[in-house]
Amino acid sequence: MIAPMHTERLSDDVYVFTSELYYQVTASLIVSGTIGVLIDTLPFPEETVQIAQLVNRLCPDGVRYIIYTQHQADHVYGAAFFPRAEVISHTLCRELMIAHGFEALEQAKTQSPSLNLVRLRLPTITFDKGNFALRLPGKTLELLRLPGHTPDSIAVLFQEEKLLFAGDTIMALPTVSDPGADVAAIRQAIELVAGMQLDCIVQGHGEIILRGEIKENMRRGNHTSKPWSPKSKNWSRPARRAKRPPACPLSSAGCRGCCSTEPSPSCIPQMCLRSMTA
Ligand SMILES: [Zn+2]
Repeated sequence: MIAPMHTERLSDDVYVFTSELYYQVTASLIVSGTIGVLIDTLPFPEETVQIAQLVNRLCPDGVRYIIYTQHQADHVYGAAFFPRAEVISHTLCRELMIAHGFEALEQAKTQSPSLNLVRLRLPTITFDKGNFALRLPGKTLELLRLPGHTPDSIAVLFQEEKLLFAGDTIMALPTVSDPGADVAAIRQAIELVAGMQLDCIVQGHGEIILRGEIKENMRRGNHTSKPWSPKSKNWSRPARRAKRPPACPLSSAGCRGCCSTEPSPSCIPQMCLRSMTA
C-alpha cells in the first residue's frame, strides 16, 4: 500500500508535499505552463511516486528543473525519478554530494530496502557567487545563498508571490542535523529571513508558515510548538510524529542542550540527527 502523504495547494501553481515517512520533510512543485519545477524532493520512493503522479496530471512536459536547497539525502533522493530534469544547486552542493553522497546512499540502502530504487542525481547547473535567478513566464525564482545549516544551503524566493522555500534554514524540528553546521551563520540566516517581506514560508521540515505566523516563528528562534522526536538514528523508518518533546540524540556527543528543552527565544537550532546528513 502506498504511504499517505500530505499535499497542499498553496496557490494556483504551487503545491507543497510533506512526508509522513521522514520527519515532515517537504518538497514543492511550481507549475509553469506545461512544465514543472521541483524545489527539493522527498527521500522515499513511495512518496515520490505520488509527486510524479501529480506532475503527470499537471505538467504534460514533465519536471524541467529540480532545485536542491542543499545536498542532504532527505532533500535529494527523489530526483532519481525525474531523470530528464536539470538539477540546479550551489556549487558546494555538488561537491558535497560527490564527496559523501554516494557512500551515504549505499549505507542507507542497507537500512531501508526501498532506497534500492534510488540513484543519486548530481546537480547539472551550479552557481557559485551571488544569487541565481530562474526566470519562467510570469514567475521569477531567486536562489539565495543562506549558508549555516550546511555550507551549501540556499533558499528559493518566488518573487511574485512573496513565498520563500527556506530549506532547512527554517524548520519545525527543534534540531539541525549537520555536525559541520555554523550556528552563528544559522542565526544570521534566520534573521535575514525574518527581515524579508514574505507572505509565506515553506520550511524544510514541518508545516507551512503563513504571513500572520512568521513574526512569532522567527521570534521563537524557529522552534516548533509541537516538537517531535526521532526514535531512529538511521534510515530505517523513523517514528511519524512523536508526542513528547525530544531528547537530544547527541546528548552524549556535544549537544549544547537547547534541543531537549522547551523552546525559548535564545534557543536556536542545534546540531543533532547526524543520521540525516549525507
Ligand atoms: Zn532536511
